[in-house]
Amino acid sequence: MRRNDYSPACVLAVDDSPEVLALLRARLKPEAIELVTAGSYAEGLALALELRPDLVLLDVEMPEHSGFDLCRRLKEEPSTANIPVIFLTGSSDIETKVHGFDLGASDYVTKPFHPAELRARVRAALRMKRAQDLLTLRAQIDALTGLHNRAYLDDLLEASIQRATYAGRPLSLVMLDLDHFKSLNDSYGHPFGDLVLQRVGDLLSRSTRPGDTACRYGGEEMTIVLADTDLVSARAVAERIRVALEEIELAPRGKRVSITASFGIAEALATVTPGEDLRASVLIAAANAALYVAKSDGRNCVRSHGEGTNTRRSLRALAAV
Ligand code: GH3
Ligand code: MG
Ligand code: MG
Ligand code: MG
Repeated sequence: MRRNDYSPACVLAVDDSPEVLALLRARLKPEAIELVTAGSYAEGLALALELRPDLVLLDVEMPEHSGFDLCRRLKEEPSTANIPVIFLTGSSDIETKVHGFDLGASDYVTKPFHPAELRARVRAALRMKRAQDLLTLRAQIDALTGLHNRAYLDDLLEASIQRATYAGRPLSLVMLDLDHFKSLNDSYGHPFGDLVLQRVGDLLSRSTRPGDTACRYGGEEMTIVLADTDLVSARAVAERIRVALEEIELAPRGKRVSITASFGIAEALATVTPGEDLRASVLIAAANAALYVAKSDGRNCVRSHGEGTNTRRSLRALAAV
């Protein structure tokens, strides 16, 4: 995935010949790309995993492990599987080309390269990659609010929990549900309800730090994943957002309405039973249970998991449903 919309595409060239790498550098100079080079299978693999380039130009014949081996490895690894590979082959026999395509390569160029053809094939592969990245991004975004969606939250939480558990760092999940949203829809119409959801989405995007992620969990429920944040700090974040929500000014048909939400928070390490793996579903169930307490305590308030009656046993039962 490109680092951001303004950074040039990153292309990794792997070839055991320094002359070929120098030639590639010269030939690709006119392109708006950042070219990184590697001289072996091992160096190429390490750079691909670290940089996640947008394209790999890969020599077929290298000592020890061939380019075919590296392509196979990159296609097996989830974080690099979607990176297009163009083989650089000295041979023009059909079998070599077919084998490369069967391993998942997007294209090939035969050495010696024709400069214009090489550049055109690189540009074509990068166009495809950009389109693919855009589709991937769209599949993770909720169309109404522009926040990440639930599918993204599930993946993000599993990864964040693993990282937090491994590093022994806190990780908090805030879950919020708008209060009496149905009656807002009923009184002012569904389009007005949509507008409210958009305003809440904007507020959550603006209120989160870089590293934190706001998602639309579904309907009028949203979540915020707070990396490196314990329950006390998460509570402060939720409280700040709760107050900011109340201050959203909306006046459908000239009548001022106030938006409020109830909040439930849970912290990953505090939720896990020692010796057991924590699953995203358990953390979500913990935040949800706290959210129910906030609703039954009168709404427009923040409650943490661990307060009141929600026990680990009941959470496991909830998460299993
Ligand atoms: P509570 O305080 O207990 O949460 O009450 P509530 O009315 O907010 O809860 P309830 O679950 O009864 O209603 C949620 C409503 O959210 C019902 C549903 O029509 C509405 N809703 C869900 N998704 C959307 C949406 O995308 N747009 C609009 N306008 N409404 C939505
Ligand atoms: Mg070679
Ligand atoms: Mg709801
Ligand atoms: Mg609600």
